[in-house]
Amino acid sequence: MPQQKAVIIGAGIAGIASAIRLAVKGYAVEFYEANSYPGGKLSEIEQDGYRFDAGPSLFTMPQYVDELFKLAGKNPADYFTYQKLEVVCKYFYEDGTQLSAYADTQQFAEEIENKTGEPAASVIKHLANSSDIYSITNHVFLERSLHRLKTFLRWDTIRSILRFPKIDPFRTLHKANSSGFKDARVVQFFDRYATYNGSDPYQAPATLNVIPHLEHHFGAYFPDGGMYSITQSLVKLAEELGVKFNYHYKVDEIVVINGVAKGIRAKGENILADLVVSNMDVWFTYKRLLGKYPKLHPQKILSQERSSSALIFYWGIKKQFPELNLHNIFFSADYKAEFDHIWKQQNIYNYPTVYLNISSKYKTDDAPAGCENWFVMINVPANNGQDWDKLITDAKQNIISKLSKILDEDISQLIVSESILDPRSIESKTSSYKGSIYGTSSNNQFAAFLRHANQSSKVAGLYFCGGSVHPGGGIPLCLLSAKIVSEMMI
Ligand code: FAD
Repeated sequence: MPQQKAVIIGAGIAGIASAIRLAVKGYAVEFYEANSYPGGKLSEIEQDGYRFDAGPSLFTMPQYVDELFKLAGKNPADYFTYQKLEVVCKYFYEDGTQLSAYADTQQFAEEIENKTGEPAASVIKHLANSSDIYSITNHVFLERSLHRLKTFLRWDTIRSILRFPKIDPFRTLHKANSSGFKDARVVQFFDRYATYNGSDPYQAPATLNVIPHLEHHFGAYFPDGGMYSITQSLVKLAEELGVKFNYHYKVDEIVVINGVAKGIRAKGENILADLVVSNMDVWFTYKRLLGKYPKLHPQKILSQERSSSALIFYWGIKKQFPELNLHNIFFSADYKAEFDHIWKQQNIYNYPTVYLNISSKYKTDDAPAGCENWFVMINVPANNGQDWDKLITDAKQNIISKLSKILDEDISQLIVSESILDPRSIESKTSSYKGSIYGTSSNNQFAAFLRHANQSSKVAGLYFCGGSVHPGGGIPLCLLSAKIVSEMMI
């Protein structure tokens, strides 16, 4: 049989993982990527002697990356290395409480008890519940297609469905956490996990209590070459497998003839293929690349609420702060007000929770000697045409005053280099509709079922991977979407 050809639209992390899996299966794979670089959100920027990972900073489930090297018969450590974090994140509360989220369950539970008075046993019980939710959901919601009958005929799926009430889909995350803990700081700590997929703890189902299991059971890691080395190492592997990367190549259309995807159209040319994988946000895939065929558009899925977005300041800081860690959270005093601003008022709270990532803590050459590279991020609404310039100016002032107060240092005097990423630039740099980071939100219990499938039900030979489709956003789930796509092509 002649070699089959696959074209992939967009070289985000899910596209790259799909390419590797398809190349291993014997396909000839070609990328068409609009940017001049691979990785999409998982890319890097350099400015004034500082290096920053542009988007993701928290790395969990490294086994999904390793799996790709093993699949290709390679030793992962020859390409990509990482280390486990003893402290996942350091937390600062407005009342002066500071706590370290140790990866080790017992140590973490004791830290919570020592700093907040919440019994360690409650934390252990909560993490055991996270583990149960994981064991029920990972077969059904994460590792397989939700859109194939055979998923539901498997014994492990049936067993999971029988245990379904345990995943707690009918209470909100906040309600479940408030009933499990007495201390408001601990409730806030566990509520924050809703933001890991761009959702609101006051609306999202308590099923999201699965997320702490990823950090406190599987662990959080730092890639030795920074987050961008995930992209770089996988691109290297893909190239070794013969995958061809075409950059500066914006795809304009998916060519469909008689209900079959026949290739793509880019730069005024038809590029034929046996199958097409879109790693582009599914909303734009339909609106831009299949705009000619409105009857193919799954209206209900495309009208889902989008996830939140982010505002990031990449600051070169001319000082080092030993009291800070790789990951740091500075909580707001009123979490409910913060999320009401994001989700109801569609603007930014004046006293937001601030996430500060400093990769130079581990990768020292990311900043000049004696300095640090600060990736300063707050959660913000998706882009609905807000006056972002004004919101950003105000947010910057509020963030600086918050960090200056807690760190007892005028931060504004230490910023020697700056660039900014906001929902508008996230949208324009990666074609993510409204600048949403994780595709659709998980603010209701049906969200998992309403994510777009990994294969078109109307166009043969058209597949979808990435953060806007099943099973969801974030690096681990994007890598799983690639696995599901490749398994569909058997
Ligand atoms: P994307 O990264 O969305 O890339 C899509 C690619 O398609 C882009 O390169 C784009 O240029 C290309 N493209 C689009 N349209 C076309 C076209 N018409 N023609 C050709 N090419 C096209 N995840 C975590 O796991 N941990 C984190 O800590 C974390 N933090 C985040 C922080 C920020 C600020 C952001 C933005 C994201 C974060 N995420 C995090 C989410 C994670 O980055 C994404 O879920 C993941 O990287 C998305 O990958 P993807 O495969 O969907 O593709």
